[in-house]
Amino acid sequence: MPVAAGRDPRYLSHALAGRNRARSPDPPEATSKTRMARIVMKFGGTSVADLDRIRNVAGRVKREVDAGNQVAVVVSAMAGTTNQLVKWCQDLSPLHDAREYDTVVATGEQVTIGLLAIALQTIGVDARSWQGWQIPIRTDDAHGKARVEEIEGGVLIERMAMGQVPVIAGFQGIGPDNRVTTLGRGGSDLSAVAIAAAVKADRCDIYTDVDGIYTTDPRIVPRARKLPAVAYEEMLELASVGAKVLQTRSVELAMKQRVRVQVLSSFEDKPGESLPGSLVVDEDEIVEQPLVTGVAYSRDEAKVTLRRVPDKPGIAALVFGPLSAANVNVDMIVQNLGADGTTDMTFTVGKADLPRARDVLEKVRAEIGFEAMVTDPEVAKISIVGIGMRSHAGVAATMFKALAEKGINIQVISTSEIKTSVLVGSEYTELAVRALHSAYGLDAEG
Ligand code: ADP
Ligand code: ASP
Ligand code: MG
Repeated sequence: MPVAAGRDPRYLSHALAGRNRARSPDPPEATSKTRMARIVMKFGGTSVADLDRIRNVAGRVKREVDAGNQVAVVVSAMAGTTNQLVKWCQDLSPLHDAREYDTVVATGEQVTIGLLAIALQTIGVDARSWQGWQIPIRTDDAHGKARVEEIEGGVLIERMAMGQVPVIAGFQGIGPDNRVTTLGRGGSDLSAVAIAAAVKADRCDIYTDVDGIYTTDPRIVPRARKLPAVAYEEMLELASVGAKVLQTRSVELAMKQRVRVQVLSSFEDKPGESLPGSLVVDEDEIVEQPLVTGVAYSRDEAKVTLRRVPDKPGIAALVFGPLSAANVNVDMIVQNLGADGTTDMTFTVGKADLPRARDVLEKVRAEIGFEAMVTDPEVAKISIVGIGMRSHAGVAATMFKALAEKGINIQVISTSEIKTSVLVGSEYTELAVRALHSAYGLDAEG
């Protein structure tokens, strides 16, 4: 595979861990007077929802190209497409083969890369579409939530240096057995950051349907405030507890590879000008550090309770070992000790994984010896996140009080250094988020 002269264009997830700049050293072509910056632009589903939106995206890309920048674009499937594809797989079989799921759900992005390449060519921009396997974006074999292992950046760098815009399918890669893989829902953000690291981009601009990262989802709390900058660590926690404005693994990779990520709107600015978005930056770049930076919610989890589990050593391994082997991630866990030598074990799994979790646990039921399995998908996890929590006591107490005042029952609690999460009935989601947003003084004035 041809590569740009003088440097290794490959991105290796392990080998590059810990390096502190996305671009270094500067490539020979960087000295050219015409090259301003190398940018990865990512557009999510609503930004490419129809042909008009795709034309709008093409216009935005052209502006960056006309300004002398080298540009690679990563796109998602048209809004709603991936949900439909996922539903078809689930309707046919809740326990479908994950390899075939990937074959189906990866198709949405193939459509948008072709359409955007055509839209760009139509307005005179040299563009070419790329599927994950064509680059290739190599992943592990965890179908449905594969990890990116290696990206060959050479060809992309070469094409960009020639003035061509690679239009890359987000969300997908190719596994060790040469089968198509997908990177988990929202995975186009990860594709964009990984490509940015692979081509040593100056910036990775994530265009979406809001104009930045807010103190909470602005669709739930109209008084949410836009944050000019968020620390990597906070964004990582916020994303991992449901702030889907950025996918968790994309933030993790950006933090590791020091990719400069900016979130901005593909909807709001006028031609020729870009409104400032939100930057994800190092902690020490943030001047004012509030106690709680943001509130997030997730309706993507389901609660599983195993009743009357024998209370003896090795039981937790018997429950969680098979789940992990089946690629089911477990999040919050609580165990209540009964007086009769048994315990009730409650934990949460991804809603999409619930059928698989039930199946796995039924198979090991005799071995574990629990009396009953009760599952509840009608739950929501509400979390507060802030680096300021590290050094202040009493932050969680404010949370519990605010929820109690609204009569919201807390089912499970979990904490980490800069986060506290509670599980509540899903009907309380909006109420809980708004109450916490106010309780921590995050509401915008007016
Ligand atoms: P895309 O399709 O562009 O990837 P997503 O729907 O995945 O867009 O993410 C953008 C959405 O994230 C917004 O429409 C908003 O509702 C939601 N969101 C959740 N939490 C936040 C937050 N803290 N700041 C901004 N947006 C948020
Ligand atoms: N299309 C995929 C999804 O809906 C990936 C993405 O949009 O980031 O999850
Ligand atoms: Mg997204």
